[in-house]
Amino acid sequence: MESPKVYWDKEHECMSREEMKKLQSEKLVKQVQNVWDNVPYYRRKMEVRGLKPSDIQSIDDLHKLPFLSKADLRDAYPYGLLARPLDECVRIQSTSGTTGKRVVAFYTQNDVDMWEDCTARAIVAAGGNKDDVCQVAYGYGLFTGGAGLHGGSHKVGCLTLPMSSGNTERQIQFMRDLEATILCCTPSYAAYIGETLHEMGLSPDDIKLKAGIFGAEPWTEEMRREIEKSLGIKAYDIYGLTELSGPGVSFECSEQTGMHINEDHFIAEIIDPNTGEVLPEGTKGELVFTSLDKEAFPLLRYRTRDICVLSRKKCSCGRTLVKMAKPMGRSDTMPNYQIVVDRVGTTDTFDILVEISDDMFSDTVKTYEELQKKITGELKSVLGIRARVKLVEPKSIPRSEGKAVRVIDKRKLV
Ligand code: ZN
Repeated sequence: MESPKVYWDKEHECMSREEMKKLQSEKLVKQVQNVWDNVPYYRRKMEVRGLKPSDIQSIDDLHKLPFLSKADLRDAYPYGLLARPLDECVRIQSTSGTTGKRVVAFYTQNDVDMWEDCTARAIVAAGGNKDDVCQVAYGYGLFTGGAGLHGGSHKVGCLTLPMSSGNTERQIQFMRDLEATILCCTPSYAAYIGETLHEMGLSPDDIKLKAGIFGAEPWTEEMRREIEKSLGIKAYDIYGLTELSGPGVSFECSEQTGMHINEDHFIAEIIDPNTGEVLPEGTKGELVFTSLDKEAFPLLRYRTRDICVLSRKKCSCGRTLVKMAKPMGRSDTMPNYQIVVDRVGTTDTFDILVEISDDMFSDTVKTYEELQKKITGELKSVLGIRARVKLVEPKSIPRSEGKAVRVIDKRKLV
């Protein structure tokens, strides 16, 4: 017999299309008035287009509004897009800022509540409830991973283990001693925990994990299957951006065929990245989000640069929220990379080759060294392990069918 369907917020997660459009329209009208009244930067962008708040009557008018891009966020850094006085804000989170200035996002208490509500939905969709022990091994701090899942885990009532990332043997010891049932971390760290578990002579039978919620970086179906096997769990994807709140903008359900977008909080559009034209649902293009409920840092039509497809195909979980595919790449230039794993004696080595872009190629050796150091540091802080980073010439990483081969494992493991 099929198990009963459980939701964190059934009313919103299973809303009819008509009700959702009505709710989104009401919220959008209010949010447009809010940015017009409180964010001079956005008001100027609207005025340039000859727009007034009264021009936006429903979500059908959304396409009239100007886009916001990461460049806008950098221009307005740090307070230029703030829509509430600082004394109403209770939190700051930030992007990792691998290129240029970091993006700093502000939250009121309501913003934190909304965000944690989103991650609570993700935990419940992954089968979580108050009887679970949720091990949060995302990094804590300015990065949204730790704080986001931590808050959701509290809301659901799970016993929360705020482990942060790194110190993998201790992670496994706590996982065993405290019988963690849900693991939240980056997929690469989950894979590493799985490998370490096996190296310690343990198997999935020695732990109680049943599910994992993994995001904050791209990962493949192949990686999902490997993690599921090595930890004996079902692995769920989660998506989000610091600019919009953090993880939980969308989340995967038991069907594991894309992530449901929390449409009562965020409107998703797919646009042609070159023309900005809105594309019909089911077409591949750049994902754009409008945050409907954010008070301190509301973003209208924020260009994520993620290339993606939306689907309204009926989902077996019963949720009516639109689903987004795993992002298929970026509309801007991300550096190409390749990971080479090898074994010297009994020690695994972990090299990352990073292609520099053509426009960087004329820079000085010092710039390369600084960049190399920065990437090594960022990886260490997220993964908890040290990788050797090598910068390589543009287009030198071999492509197979147009895509770079991401991981090469040279270890002879039997
Ligand atoms: Zn579903």
